[in-house]
Amino acid sequence: MATLSITGGRVLLPDGTIPRADVLIDRDDGEILEIGDDLAGEDVLDASGSLVTPGFVNGHSHVAMTLLRGYADDKPLESWLREDIWPAEGELTAEDVRVGAELGLVEMIKSGTTGFADMYFEMPEIVDAVDRAGLRGRLGHGVVTVAKDDAGAHEDLETSLAFAREYDGAANGRISTAFMPHSLTTVDREYLAEYVPKAREAGVPLHYHANETADEVTPIVESEGVRPLAYAAELGMLESQDFVAHGVHVDESEIGLLAEAGTGVIHCPASNMKLASGMAPVQRMLDAGVTVGLGTDGAASNNDLSMLDEARDAAMIGKLAAEDASAIPAERIAEMLTHRTADAIGLESGRLEEGAPADLAVIDLEEPHLTPVHDLVSHLAYAAAASDVRHTICDGQVLMRDREVLTLEEDAVLERASEAAESLVARAEE
Ligand SMILES: [Zn+2]
Repeated sequence: MATLSITGGRVLLPDGTIPRADVLIDRDDGEILEIGDDLAGEDVLDASGSLVTPGFVNGHSHVAMTLLRGYADDKPLESWLREDIWPAEGELTAEDVRVGAELGLVEMIKSGTTGFADMYFEMPEIVDAVDRAGLRGRLGHGVVTVAKDDAGAHEDLETSLAFAREYDGAANGRISTAFMPHSLTTVDREYLAEYVPKAREAGVPLHYHANETADEVTPIVESEGVRPLAYAAELGMLESQDFVAHGVHVDESEIGLLAEAGTGVIHCPASNMKLASGMAPVQRMLDAGVTVGLGTDGAASNNDLSMLDEARDAAMIGKLAAEDASAIPAERIAEMLTHRTADAIGLESGRLEEGAPADLAVIDLEEPHLTPVHDLVSHLAYAAAASDVRHTICDGQVLMRDREVLTLEEDAVLERASEAAESLVARAEE
């Protein structure tokens, strides 16, 4: 058995305690063997002066959108999509998606993220990039049927279903899939009614955008006579393995539906603030027993993929939304960074304990902005930054050691991404 030990750090355990301990990992099985004192592995990662946490989980992203980072800012969702993002995405090639995904994956590894859920297109390119980068992903092809003829709509739906069937369990099980209608307003009712049962037959969960803006709620109330999540429930789209992105404009009845069904909600505070979409009632959802995770959304509306930034944003906007400084405390944020999001998107990771997947991040605490240490959970929620991450490990494999990414060539990825982004924007504006 090949072993790896992470030694000399403070380790964040599932019960919220943070003892000094070593972590011993079976690299062949990708599992944590033991957490305790004086554990020696064949390979050693130094964690002295550091916090060892579960690798962060990003519950909602469009990873290849890194190519559009900073391309179109300061606009509301509808005009941002129609005037800037969709025209640029119309020019994206499979090669662009691969290059953009590699850039996003390097950024995730460098910021301590080891698992993520992603909705995009040209998904086999993203599978290939994730396989090489070494992360864990729940991936799916995003379907849009509005403005398509029936044949075009069916082709898109079949692509999403076929991808979900074919790639579930790829990359030695690190890749799982979902059927991903883009949203309740961009996929027509007849298609949801036809394809949701097919996704159930295939045994894959659903992931879609819901209740992101007020403009997404009104048309459904007008056409269907019920709130969006009641409409989703009617179509069989709210089950315990499913998860929705955003959930900003949800009322009490919809929070009740989510809690009852066990459907996860991925809160994307930075995207919601940047597009002025609104403030999700996260504390009310937590109080009702909804599994709320965290996600960055795409880099074009964030504009980075750091989960530590997202954590701080979630804490801040959560308090503002609840008008209560005690809402979304640091302990909840630490849970949302790790196992709550993993639970929402159906990953086994997010907890450091014997037998759990060896997905970890090691955060350097010897920095001015992390001194003194009264409370490490507070530092995780409010003060730590992506650049504090020293080592990232996923499935027992070291993806980054002493801030050097080992699985992808960072310099080459950045160069390719800059070139691809420049060419893409030139084509979109022709
Ligand atoms: Zn999104």
